[in-house]
Amino acid sequence: MRMVMLGPPGVGKGTQAALLAKAKGVPHISTGEIMRQTVASGEELGKRVKGFLDRGELVTDDVMIEVMRERLRQPDCAAGFVLDGFPRTLPQAEALDVLLRELEMELTHIVDLAVPESVLLERIQKRGASGSGRSDDTMEVAKRRLEVYQAQTAPVGEYYLQRGNMIKIESLAGVPEVQAEILAAVEQSESV
Ligand code: ADP
Repeated sequence: MRMVMLGPPGVGKGTQAALLAKAKGVPHISTGEIMRQTVASGEELGKRVKGFLDRGELVTDDVMIEVMRERLRQPDCAAGFVLDGFPRTLPQAEALDVLLRELEMELTHIVDLAVPESVLLERIQKRGASGSGRSDDTMEVAKRRLEVYQAQTAPVGEYYLQRGNMIKIESLAGVPEVQAEILAAVEQSESV
């Protein structure tokens, strides 16, 4: 399975991506996690990207594409992967196509998770209040992340929709229910 998981901040993408990757025995590649680790490591790159994360803005495409080029070349990705947080812009989606062509790989599934916007803000706020430790889980930054999502990431959904193989799931139910729904949809589309 080589999957891209799409959806706005707070939709539960990270949680579902981690569960699915575990169930399928493939790496869960979260670019948000990679970026937070880079910041925590104190590396030069981390110093450059910290401001973007704290403001809820996207890290530049060239940085992200380079990070993913490295990551997808790691041997564990031969088994497949679940991408969580990438691609997040049209140039990233195009770069991913190029990168996968170089690696002679093809995506097998695109999953798009959705919930109403009011639920997103509520979930992010709760996550911040319950100690996520993420400096971007405040109401103000969460609103900015949603704006950035609408402006820059929503078009990525359109990009994949045109290819016609997108699985759309509403992520309002509990974590296990949504996971079961994703697994069922993935298996159904594998058997086609
Ligand atoms: P969210 O819950 O907002 O989806 P993530 O954990 O996926 O958050 O990402 C957190 C932050 O990491 C983003 O707000 C952004 O600054 C940075 N980031 C993650 N993935 C990307 C990407 N593909 N392109 C640019 N920036 C990214």
